[in-house]
Amino acid sequence: MGSLADSAPFRVLVIGGSYGGLSAALNLQDLCRGKEPRCGPAPDKEHGVEQPQIPIDITIVDERDGFYHAIGGPLVLASETYAEKAWVKYDEIPALRSPNIKVLQGSVKSVDTEEKVATFQAHGPGAEEWEIQYDYLVAAAGLRRVWPVVPKSLRRKEYLLETGDHTRDALTGRHGVVVVGGGAVGVEIASELKDLHPETKVTLVQSRDKLLSAEPLPEEFKDIALDLVRETGVHVLLSHRLDRTDEARDDDGVDCYRVHFTNGHTMLADQVVMAVSKSVPSTDFLPPFALDEEGYVLVESTLQFADSSPNASSHFAIGDLAKWSGIKRCGAAMHMGYYAANNIFMSMVEENGIELPVIDKPREVLKLDEIPPMMGLAVGKKAISYWPEAGVNSGEDVMKSFFGDDLAFSICWNHMRLGTLDLETTVDERFGDLGLAS
Ligand SMILES: Cc1cc2nc3c(=O)[nH]c(=O)nc-3n(C[C@H](O)[C@H](O)[C@H](O)COP(=O)(O)OP(=O)(O)OC[C@H]3O[C@@H](n4cnc5c(N)ncnc54)[C@H](O)[C@@H]3O)c2cc1C
Repeated sequence: MGSLADSAPFRVLVIGGSYGGLSAALNLQDLCRGKEPRCGPAPDKEHGVEQPQIPIDITIVDERDGFYHAIGGPLVLASETYAEKAWVKYDEIPALRSPNIKVLQGSVKSVDTEEKVATFQAHGPGAEEWEIQYDYLVAAAGLRRVWPVVPKSLRRKEYLLETGDHTRDALTGRHGVVVVGGGAVGVEIASELKDLHPETKVTLVQSRDKLLSAEPLPEEFKDIALDLVRETGVHVLLSHRLDRTDEARDDDGVDCYRVHFTNGHTMLADQVVMAVSKSVPSTDFLPPFALDEEGYVLVESTLQFADSSPNASSHFAIGDLAKWSGIKRCGAAMHMGYYAANNIFMSMVEENGIELPVIDKPREVLKLDEIPPMMGLAVGKKAISYWPEAGVNSGEDVMKSFFGDDLAFSICWNHMRLGTLDLETTVDERFGDLGLAS
């Protein structure tokens, strides 16, 4: 077994510190410390076999100042208490408190795959721009989604003001909230709001005659979704295409909106939530040859960039921005993060001629299978799930197993072990700046 303890660390740049990016960074950190990767299968038995250590420096870049649990978005818009929980600043995530992981807040503006250098623009006062050299790059910047599907704010403090104002606006009027768009996000926004605030009138409008019409899911799933949404008390208008929304006054002279549909129907609302916009991959920092015509990154089953990119084998794309089959899901993003980590590690092993000890079976390069359509959808106190082997299931038990009691915040947090301190760091490194070292 080779030892690299004194050699220069591999520099790994991860663009996007959410489900995919954090999974890639932390699984890679595990592997390079000779541990089992946290999102991989557990070994059959305790083995006690010493594994090689590979020095790495991981830089995670994100536009936000913390991990935002996007899945919880619909509940963030309905509950200020939950909003507090759904965004955790990076410097408060124990798993990232490690001397070889650095998190920078700002945007990656460009990547030169030939020279292996990225241009980074810091956020905040001074807004410096500088270059980051890397040996491996993981693109995990997801899709660009618009408010209120995700917050506009990039800092937790402003996010709490933004979402808090939105929630209070939704609850104070008397005409209620109109949610436009009967896809998964619209269904969850409408039903979470109604579930938490039954006194508020909530209307979900959909241009087609079914909810979730664009999703490649069984009709049974869509029918049950409609039943469950109605069960929460949300008023559903199918076959209603939004024409426009005008500012208006009600009969008492109170400001509100008048929502016009193309079939001539109109209604008053205190708040109109648009859950219809098409999200586009956040990949404008990558060279065009790495992308398809819609901006998704072309990848091999190893999650490396497609062969046509220079240095393709050192560049990985994971999560929502990767061109891969299946409905975009956070579970897939975290799984891809683990695969990318494993494959970066295998590349480092190969480059250094390290012979890995065999534990249960030889560690090897992982290749992603095609992912069939699958979905878990929270609707108030119940959820519906579909995947090919299990078919369609729904109920409170499905809610519990897919989302727990916090729209899957704890499930994701625990899966990536974000709350677990990195035991290899010193007490000073972990607690020094919190004033807890002594
Ligand atoms: C409202 C809502 C509900 C959802 N519900 C579910 C659900 O129930 N189940 C499920 O499985 N999935 C759900 N999803 C989908 C799920 O959230 C995504 O599949 C998941 O977020 C993808 O993770 P990711 O790491 O690829 O990207 P993202 O989570 O989008 O993270 C990308 C990160 O990159 C950062 N970034 C972007 N561009 C740059 C740049 N140029 N420089 C630096 N940083 C950048 C962003 O700030 C962000 O933190 C939901 C999504 C939404 C919006």
